Amino acid sequence: MRYAEPQTVEEGVALLASTEHARCLAGGASLVAMMHAGHAAPAMLVSLHRIQELSAITETPEGLWVGAMVRHRTVAADTRLRGAMRVVRSAAEQLAHPAIRNMATVGGSVGLADPNTEIPVALVAASAQVEVAGPSGRRLVPVESLFVDRFQTSLGRDELITRIFIPRGPEGAVGHHLRFSRVSGDYPTVSISLVLAMEGATCRQARVAVGCCGPVPLHVAAADQRLVGTPLGEQDIAEAGQLLARAASPVDDVRGSAEYRRLLIPRLLGRAVSLAREPAHG
Ligand SMILES: Cc1cc2nc3c(=O)[nH]c(=O)nc-3n(C[C@H](O)[C@H](O)[C@H](O)COP(=O)(O)OP(=O)(O)OC[C@H]3O[C@@H](n4cnc5c(N)ncnc54)[C@H](O)[C@@H]3O)c2cc1C
Repeated sequence: MRYAEPQTVEEGVALLASTEHARCLAGGASLVAMMHAGHAAPAMLVSLHRIQELSAITETPEGLWVGAMVRHRTVAADTRLRGAMRVVRSAAEQLAHPAIRNMATVGGSVGLADPNTEIPVALVAASAQVEVAGPSGRRLVPVESLFVDRFQTSLGRDELITRIFIPRGPEGAVGHHLRFSRVSGDYPTVSISLVLAMEGATCRQARVAVGCCGPVPLHVAAADQRLVGTPLGEQDIAEAGQLLARAASPVDDVRGSAEYRRLLIPRLLGRAVSLAREPAHG
């Protein structure tokens, strides 16, 4: 196996293009574990650690650009991620445990496309866009369109994620992420990310995404619409939750049965809505 440490995105892209089974190395939390277990055997590891631009966070009037190599720990501590953008910070604060939050990166979480991870779910709720660099330059893609299947993205083999744009979202919006896990620090059984904008007591805009309930983060526009124009009463949340549960395709595994996961969705949605509406989030 070859190992390379490019200094620029362009060098990184050229290295990926030069070797058929090359893979980016970000935090290494998952990739190295997969290599140890014999589930991955790249011909070349292209470490992204020396590419400085990938570790930057830049604020603009429209939102925040978060570099692919920014660690979860840094995202969790960045108070500029407020309002709707808070949903991403909330996921980074809660996921896994400190060792993983110190090591793993935002770009690695997207590149891994593990249906149990939480940053992808929060990014879908936040309507984030992903900047991708390849041999013909850079392009911006909606995060949702990047996730194709379990552990599979639409990235070309010579493309890498450079940064992620998290839009400020609607005026007055709030974001929250909630996870249910059997024990603290474990992957969740179900996770839910939510962005809400209220006008008085009425929901003006809603966007909900669910994790661990299908091959990619689950987003159902009809569930969002069921919440809009309502006071977010019990019945509204229950029906929006049922729309999500019906569209979900969870599996049975050690963290819960598919049936249990479907039951959890409306309950977690209810809790996430209450938490998002607490004054601390406003
Ligand atoms: C023990 C353990 C527990 C975990 N628990 C949780 C949890 O509870 N919740 C949760 O949300 N997540 C959890 N994770 C996952 C973690 O949050 C990260 O999603 C994951 O580790 C990948 O991030 P990384 O930076 O380590 O990426 P790596 O392991 O370095 O890479 C992962 C994959 O992404 C690709 N990749 C990396 N960077 C890029 C890039 N810039 N462009 C294109 N492709 C790229 C790599 O080639 C590789 O295929 C856990 C991970 C571990 C190991």
